[in-house]
Amino acid sequence: MSDCNLTSTCPFFNDRMSNKPATAELIKSMYCKDDFNNCARMVVAKALGRDKVPVDLLPSQAQRALEIVTAL
Ligand code: SF4
Repeated sequence: MSDCNLTSTCPFFNDRMSNKPATAELIKSMYCKDDFNNCARMVVAKALGRDKVPVDLLPSQAQRALEIVTAL
């Protein structure tokens, strides 16, 4: 699978998140370089637009993404 098309500007991928987990590189390999369609940040960006993605949302926070998307 190819890389996520948001890697150039994504705060998580570019290590600009203050709550970056110690496992960030593992998460990048799981989501950004493989299963990016199931990334929580991607889910919110697709549904609501990139400007609606919380700055601290981690790729693995699927439940939180679902709550954000369905909150409207
Ligand atoms: S964190 Fe999600 S949106 Fe950002 S580059 Fe990785 S897969 Fe794409």
